[in-house]
Amino acid sequence: MTQTDVILAAKELCIEFNGFRALDGASFNVRRGHIHALIGPNGAGKTTCFNLLTRFLTPTSGTIHLNGDDITALPPDEIAQRGMVRSFQISAVFGDMTVLENVRVALQRRKHGASFDFWRSESVLRGLNAEAEQLVHAVGLSEFIHLRAAELSYGRKRALEVATTLALDPQMLLLDEPMAGMGHEDVKRTAALIREIARTRTVLMVEHNLSVVAELCDRITVLARGQVLAEGDYASVSQDPKVIEAYIGA
Ligand code: ADP
Repeated sequence: MTQTDVILAAKELCIEFNGFRALDGASFNVRRGHIHALIGPNGAGKTTCFNLLTRFLTPTSGTIHLNGDDITALPPDEIAQRGMVRSFQISAVFGDMTVLENVRVALQRRKHGASFDFWRSESVLRGLNAEAEQLVHAVGLSEFIHLRAAELSYGRKRALEVATTLALDPQMLLLDEPMAGMGHEDVKRTAALIREIARTRTVLMVEHNLSVVAELCDRITVLARGQVLAEGDYASVSQDPKVIEAYIGA
């Protein structure tokens, strides 16, 4: 694996909460264009790891590199600007706004910041609408485009959240349990969406549903007690005795 193949490199990440090491020297690399899963039993440190990567928490020690640059000390908004965005991090779904309006607001934020001057230009507004429509289509919500977000099903609301995150044009998307609480149809739809996103971007996801992980992910890092227990494709990690023991013993 060359340096340019690696989009994200986490090295020896540690964090302590009142003397308890929630992450204890975890290292892993995420390859550009991969769908990479972070799995492990409850309490393994997966969410803590996501929080460190996006700097919602500060590591006690260790480093994080994105595209070869050390981002360990950068604030969350700068990490997002550099292309690594967590779904639900910046975007939010506004229930009273339509699907289209939600995505347009997210696009507007990226392209025009807090400025409202763009409203004066018809052509800018048309451009934003066209781009928002494309994103709504990409996440499979075309038929709901003028529906208030509050009226969407749970799974479709999460698809909308993904659309508002994609509006930020990230190189790398972090998804924290994207299928949680979804029924079979929504899981299938979301899996197809993640696959589509990964055609042009990198995805790192925490996911409990191991059949989804098996079907979707190119590479898997297994965490247990804050450490990397195993890494590889699903076939190799699922047969690893250490992984089996961690899951059964959890
Ligand atoms: P996972 O997402 O794999 O279930 P977490 O990252 O949520 O695991 O938690 C890892 C460990 O760190 C758990 O034992 C949890 O109780 C502990 N932990 C997480 N956040 C905090 C915190 N803010 N304060 C104290 N302990 C925490």
